[in-house]
Amino acid sequence: MSDQPAAAPTPLPLVLAEPRGRKKPPRHLADLTVDERKDLLVEMGLPGFRARQVATHYFSRLVDDPEQMTDLPAGQRAALVEALLPDLMTSIREQTADKGKTVKTLWKLFDGSLVESVLMRYKDRATICISSQAGCGMACPFCATGQGGLQRNMSTAEIVHQVVVGARAMANGDVAGGPGRLSNVVFMGMGEPLANYKATLGAVRRLTEPAPSGLGLSARHVTVSTVGLVPRIRQLAGEGIPVTLALSLHAPDDELRNDIVPINTRFSVAETVDAAYEYFAKTGRRVSIEYALMKDINDQGWRADLLADVLSGDGRGTGWVHVNPIPLNEVPGSRFTRSREDDMDEFVRRLTARGIATTLRDTRGSDIDAACGQLAASE
Ligand code: SAH
Repeated sequence: MSDQPAAAPTPLPLVLAEPRGRKKPPRHLADLTVDERKDLLVEMGLPGFRARQVATHYFSRLVDDPEQMTDLPAGQRAALVEALLPDLMTSIREQTADKGKTVKTLWKLFDGSLVESVLMRYKDRATICISSQAGCGMACPFCATGQGGLQRNMSTAEIVHQVVVGARAMANGDVAGGPGRLSNVVFMGMGEPLANYKATLGAVRRLTEPAPSGLGLSARHVTVSTVGLVPRIRQLAGEGIPVTLALSLHAPDDELRNDIVPINTRFSVAETVDAAYEYFAKTGRRVSIEYALMKDINDQGWRADLLADVLSGDGRGTGWVHVNPIPLNEVPGSRFTRSREDDMDEFVRRLTARGIATTLRDTRGSDIDAACGQLAASE
């Protein structure tokens, strides 16, 4: 225990550098392109064409146990799996809610870092909420993850593996409701995905490319959620992968957003909304605006009106955007509390009256701290 006073917050660097000399997560086939996997095996003196078989096991059959890879020569199986499918993480706790249809997993990564993922099964789909960083450097004061700071970026394979394990749980019928298919991925777990751009983009490619390159999910069913790193939003718009973008806006005015989403002191509301609109203009994908409703902070009727102005301003109209207000999930020790029902209803009513598609989001898993902003990954 230190008796030093807490240090003043330092300004946030846009690209969070990793300390030098730190050990990297194991290299895994999900980090590599099809050609790179082949080259790696050849370098190791193994037959390159086997990479395709191993990748098919991983991405199509969702298998990483060498015993189940009977099409590989028994004498090579262990070496191939060691080369391409090293252990990335260990599940150290599983909690369920919603009668077994929400499952939160706490993962320990190779270096002891802890992250969480949450699988949510609905009538018509199953969504996994994944982490892209251990911790988060964005310091939003209403979010549990933001309170602990950033430990490190996750690798592409560490990001993807959460999805593969979730897809396997669905396929095997391990989630209440019988066997099914994992259909959606949201980067709404721990971390700011666009602050770990390279690994996030690699993960998006692996998730959307068909097997054996990747998992073959529909890009439209993959949502990258960002606090609003403007240059990275513009960069993502140019990648040619039409993933859904979610922008965590939470306030329509700089005065308030500077407080509750500190990166706003770097990129204003106007710049951020502009970049989100450009994302729509380039990709044709409607942008989701996330707005956690906090009592007497950002839930006033006039702020709903201002939000409508800000979104539809500059001739943008309303067709490019979908607002998702979400009742705040309360974080222990935080001064932020959930809005009153009436205020939430009025907020939604005002946006809808302005022609803005608005859906109040549910708060699955809040009883096991698995809901948005509650992931803190402690043992
Ligand atoms: N860093 C990314 C993704 C992680 S958070 C981002 O900021 O978008 C996923 C969503 O949960 C974000 O919209 C985030 O603002 C929201 N969130 C964080 N804390 C919350 C809380 N306590 N209640 C409700 N939503 C919260």
